[in-house]
Amino acid sequence: MGIKIFWDARAPSGLQKPVARTIAQILNASVDVEESQILINGYRQQRAQHDARIVLDRLQLFKRRHNIKDNVLLVIQEDLFEEDSDFVFGLARDTTGSAVLSAARLANEYYGRKGSDDELIDRISKEGAHEIGHLMGLSHCRNQECVMFQPTALDDLDRKKKAFCPYCWSLLDSFTSTPSA
Ligand SMILES: [Zn+2]
Ligand SMILES: [Zn+2]
Repeated sequence: MGIKIFWDARAPSGLQKPVARTIAQILNASVDVEESQILINGYRQQRAQHDARIVLDRLQLFKRRHNIKDNVLLVIQEDLFEEDSDFVFGLARDTTGSAVLSAARLANEYYGRKGSDDELIDRISKEGAHEIGHLMGLSHCRNQECVMFQPTALDDLDRKKKAFCPYCWSLLDSFTSTPSA
């Protein structure tokens, strides 16, 4: 099963290729990237955010219609929330191989700092590899430098290395090498 990235037209342009390359390195797998055709809905006016679950529903529908079996990561610009949280960087639904991430809070500009493409590429790649890690069966990791550590703020993302820790890597390895029944 392959990995696809759907890149929304409103997400930062020009970063698709370096992000796909970095995620491919982290996962040691090939990653395709293409322009997204997913309609983004689930906007909640009172929060000025999109409901991540509704965005995933739409992605799921698209995958089913087009018979896409690959794990798909959708990259969007719109800020996301999930029930009971102020915001989420991303959300994964492993039962359907669908994940979404928002670039909104990954950019320095959001925090009033000077923008940096390199930092943005790193953060989208780490967050993207994290959500794809969930799609491949991984849970959160307590190692703060591991891609699967759950980030609650930008600092958490920046502390991570662009790699899975040896434990998560061994789990991934066992998931992918076990013949499925
Ligand atoms: Zn997570
Ligand atoms: Zn780990």
